[in-house]
Parts: sequence; C-alpha cells; structure tokens
Amino acid sequence: MTETAHAAVLTAPRTFETREYPVPDVDIGSGVLRVEAAGLCGTDYEQFAGHLEGTKWAIRPIIPGHEILGHVEKLGREAARTWKVKEGDRVIVESSIPCGQCFQCLIGRTVLCQHNLGYGLRISVNEAPHLWGGYASHMYLHPRARLHRAPTDVPTGVMSLFNPLSNAVRWGFEKPGTGIGDTIVIEGPGQRGLLAVVVAKMAGAAQVIITGTRADRARLALAKQLGADATIVVDEEDPVERVRDLTGGAGADIVLDVSAGATEPIIQAVEMVRAGGTVVVAGLKNQRPVGNLVTDKLILKEISMVGVLSSSWTATERSIDILRRRWKDLRALCTHGYPIERADTAVKLLGREIEDGPEPVHIHLTPR
Ligand SMILES: [Zn+2]
Ligand SMILES: [Zn+2]
Repeated sequence: MTETAHAAVLTAPRTFETREYPVPDVDIGSGVLRVEAAGLCGTDYEQFAGHLEGTKWAIRPIIPGHEILGHVEKLGREAARTWKVKEGDRVIVESSIPCGQCFQCLIGRTVLCQHNLGYGLRISVNEAPHLWGGYASHMYLHPRARLHRAPTDVPTGVMSLFNPLSNAVRWGFEKPGTGIGDTIVIEGPGQRGLLAVVVAKMAGAAQVIITGTRADRARLALAKQLGADATIVVDEEDPVERVRDLTGGAGADIVLDVSAGATEPIIQAVEMVRAGGTVVVAGLKNQRPVGNLVTDKLILKEISMVGVLSSSWTATERSIDILRRRWKDLRALCTHGYPIERADTAVKLLGREIEDGPEPVHIHLTPR
C-alpha cells in the first residue's frame, strides 16, 4: 500500500490548503525524506503575503519550506553513495538543487546557479513527484539535492536554526574574514543578526556591537546574553558616534548589515567602518536605492563593500558544528514551534500580523 504524505500548500497569496500526495517510490539516484522540521525566515512571509510577485519565486501552488531538517526514509543505491548517508540518518537538506553544469556551478559558486531549482521556493506542487517543500510530512530528494549529516542529540527547534546560522557564518565570518581582535558591528537583531553575534565571538572578535530600534529591546537583551559587548538603540542615540566612542575613534573593522528594508544602516555603515574595513550587505531593501550614499568615501577610505546571498557548503557544515557544540546556548532563540496545519499562524506571527506569547525570533513547523 502506498503511504500518504500531508502537506500545507500555498495556493494563492495568504491561502494555505492541506493536501495529500502519495509518498513517491525512489529510483537508484533519489530518495525520500521524512520531514522533522522546517525553519522559517523572512522569505516565508514574503512568499505568503504575495510580496514576491514578478520574481522567479512567485510560484504557486507550492509547498513552502526551504530550511529543511529530517530523516532519510527511502534511498536509492547510487544516492546513498553520493550523499554518504543511509536510511534513518538525520540530515539537513539545502534549499538549492544546483544544475551542476552552468558557469557558476562549474566554478563552485552554486548559490548563483542559473538553473537552480530550490526546495520550497522554485518548484510547484503540480510537478511530479509533488513533494518539493518542507511544510510537509515527506519530501522528495532529487538526485542533485545537497544533504548534510546532522547530529542526533540536538533538539528539533534548535537544529532547525541551521539555515540562519549558516548565513551568519558566511556573512559574519567567511566573507569578511573575521578574526582575533576584530571589532564588528551587526546592524539588525533578527535571528541572523543574533546568530552573527555568536559566530563573531567564536571567530575571536574582541568587540561585538549590535544595533536595533526601541522595538527590539527584547532581542537586544538576548544579544547581550549571547555575548554581545555593546548594544545601540538607533532611535535613541547616534550609532556612528557610539561606534566611534567604543573604538577609540578608529571605527569598526567590519560592519554587517542584516536589517530588512531600512537603507539608513548602509549610509551609517560607511561612516562607522574604519579605513580599510569591510561592509557586508545582506539585508534586502525591497529594491529601493540608498539615499545619499557618497561612493567617494569607499575610495578615500578603501572600504570593501560586499553583497552576500544565502549560504555555502562550508558555512552549513560549520553551522552544524556550532549547533553540535553550543546548542544549549542557542535554545533561547527558538521561541515558537507549530504543526504544519498551523502554517498560517506561524507565518503571520513571523510577519508580526499577530502575537502569540513572547517576541518571535526563530519559528519552526513540524509535521504531526
Ligand atoms: Zn530562509
Ligand atoms: Zn548551475
């Protein structure tokens, strides 16, 4: 008898439908995942709210969920060799399914693959075998999927932090090359900003400063708990002045912008970074231009400004290692978990349309 999978399908903006599909059979190169959890991030809300219309991510009907944790349930012989896993193993599945053949794939920059499929974002549920997202009991493992072995003793909610944590590793450590003695400013205390605090500290940063607004008080307190040396409330004090004070006038070695929407942090980053320093730009601004950015300052101060999107293989491996060793410290970020039947509630909470207990930081969904 064929097993049945359950999924939350986004059929129109703001509309979920629970649907059932047969759990697919696997051939030699593919597999099936029993989903344990799907983590949520801002993209889940944008997708739900219809903010991605006109982009390649505006695909429906779709099973969302691109931050995927689960156990290998079925596995082809060839797939077992490729992924170095066996049935029953706990794994993380990267969102991207790179083509392996385009220029970007060939030079190892799969995040920019031109034909990237992508779980939860790029493939409609209408495409067989239908199970292309994490808001479901099962998910199809495509032959080109990228799997990482996950430790078995880290609780579900914390383990589902791997995706934002891998971003924090790439943006707060790999790209800027954060090291011993550095001062880093992190603009924006969302889950990625908070995790970047942990990453920067582990990398040896001497001073980690995080900024937020008055509304972020709870998150800034959490940042302190995670090791931040100083917090700045940008609507109460001048962040550029504060950073100058905290660095003896020199400025920060690295500024990481993970704030969503606001463009002022980019202008401030150029002011607060030291000469020869690096500004990492990771917070999307909804296609808006950045006000009065004076690029001469980049030249005269020899500032490196670098855009970053998503994660990397190594950053994901490092995030797993951090979770293995430090998961108890990161539990405080896991504020909410819901069954997939309540995807609607989870995504609305994420978009701050509703409230449900504590200030949301990391939210995850689990199948029943
Ligand atoms: Zn995400
Ligand atoms: Zn490619």
